[in-house]
Amino acid sequence: MSALARIRLDLFSTNLFNADRIYNQNRTLLPLAFARELHFAIAKQDLHNAAYRRQFHSCAFDLTMDRTGFAERGEEVEDEIAISPIAHSVAPDLVDEIVYDALVWSSLHGLVVGDRRVEGSGTVPGVGLVHAPFSLLPMPFPKRYWRQASELAPIFNELVDRVSLDGKFLQDALSRTKQADAFTSRLLDIHSEMLEKNKTEDIRLGLHRSDYMVDGETNLLLQIEFNTISSSFAGLSCLVSELHRNLLNHYGKNLGLDPRKVPGNTAVSRFAEAIAKAWNEYNNTSAVVTIVVQGEERNMYDQHCLTALLKEIHGIATIRKTLSEIAANGEVLSDGTLIMDGKPVAVVYFRAGYTPNDYPSEAEWGARLLIEKSSAIKCPSISYHLVGTKKIQQELAKPNVLERFLDNAEDIAKLRKCFAGLWSLYDADAVKSAIEKPDLFVLKPQREGGGNNIYGDDLRKALIELQQKGTEELAAYILMQRIFPTASPAFLVREGVWFQENAISELGTYGTYLRSKDKVIINDQCGYLMRTKVSSSNEGGVAAGYAVLDSIYLT
Ligand code: ADP
Ligand code: MG
Repeated sequence: MSALARIRLDLFSTNLFNADRIYNQNRTLLPLAFARELHFAIAKQDLHNAAYRRQFHSCAFDLTMDRTGFAERGEEVEDEIAISPIAHSVAPDLVDEIVYDALVWSSLHGLVVGDRRVEGSGTVPGVGLVHAPFSLLPMPFPKRYWRQASELAPIFNELVDRVSLDGKFLQDALSRTKQADAFTSRLLDIHSEMLEKNKTEDIRLGLHRSDYMVDGETNLLLQIEFNTISSSFAGLSCLVSELHRNLLNHYGKNLGLDPRKVPGNTAVSRFAEAIAKAWNEYNNTSAVVTIVVQGEERNMYDQHCLTALLKEIHGIATIRKTLSEIAANGEVLSDGTLIMDGKPVAVVYFRAGYTPNDYPSEAEWGARLLIEKSSAIKCPSISYHLVGTKKIQQELAKPNVLERFLDNAEDIAKLRKCFAGLWSLYDADAVKSAIEKPDLFVLKPQREGGGNNIYGDDLRKALIELQQKGTEELAAYILMQRIFPTASPAFLVREGVWFQENAISELGTYGTYLRSKDKVIINDQCGYLMRTKVSSSNEGGVAAGYAVLDSIYLT
């Protein structure tokens, strides 16, 4: 019996585990037609297990992506329906109807976050859920930018890896920041302790997200930032893509929109696969994956999308721990093995530790150091974490710096093309321009997680104040060219209520990287996150309450 027939049989008998196993054994051999058929089979099956269904969807899209380069599923299809830009003029009754369906879909499929109004919603799964804020219809996005962002992902992965190996570059580039910013200083202390010990990370795992906006004036796709720690929404972004395809399947004809123009999103299954492969490299079947989490986490379902796949598809156990809990329970054996709850840890995956709030006392810093000293695979290692800082982003944008790390001139040119203007505050001309025209700049401290940047009049005041305070303080910030994406109308849905707004979007592309010594095991682009916010809002975080989750409608 062919693999396809076998999988179908298993799908129909809902022996999903077997179907998945056979699929995974054969995936590189199966033709494109199979992906379509598999898709079809899945669509027809009312699979009761959402996690499996998602995985199968992802596999099929994934395979389609492999065969066509990027996920231009629309291009494979001949019977195109007439496409119009996302309708501005949808009748309110129809919007109500689609919103209702979208809310039902979100609730049934886990497109949810903890509701901050309900006690326990950030700690106990299943308590106090509300749908994640989303955009009702996918945001139109030109295919060429999508392709460009996808192409950049593996190049950035490689860059991060190369830079992470140059400990001196990281220490030197951040030396002034160290004086001005206590948090970065602590990270650098851990890093230099590892350098002194000559500690190397032979197996390196990166789960990254590079964020971009398209500047309306120059028509350039420009990078906002590169995330190397806690790159979130791999789980929920896949669900939003599915939600949008689902809505367009039903309402696409009315709206003049083709569901096949929403690219498949494989971020979460590929993240899980990368962690599973790293776990495999660690080579201890009794080892677990530890997820470092915050004490309260309203975005826990995004994380659980990933851990459920690890458990159900890859058979790998995960343990959630805060840094405080790791401080109390974790230990490192003399051979370097990290032990948590009596079990060896193969991979430590950080969904915390990127903000000073995660280190309320010395104990949490002790836990971070303990992890770093161990032989567990860290995602990220302290070096990868530092490469993702805003100061390093600004250093890499300086002339001739990329050339230190990459050999391929074309790759370098591609990266440089997406760099916005970035300046240190020791650049007197840039600071002068920013004081004169604050609206053209963003002032960024060395922080992650949204809500930290300074804009407009506050930016001007802050710069003047910083200049008065003296030289040290300047190193805690960088200046960035402000990007102005073109706004378009969108329906944003929050807490069950929709608003029509003029909105702008930020595209993130996920990248996975896994390396064992000289062998690059994975270096891929693997999915996307679109976030949309009202055009008048400066900040962009979904969890921070500024933006909604979205997907893409390729134009
Ligand atoms: P964080 O680490 O807090 O996510 P970001 O650099 O991503 O920091 O900035 C947060 C948000 O601010 C972004 O999601 C984006 O909406 C907005 N932003 C950041 N940089 C710029 C910029 N150069 N131009 C316009 N908006 C920006
Ligand atoms: Mg960001």
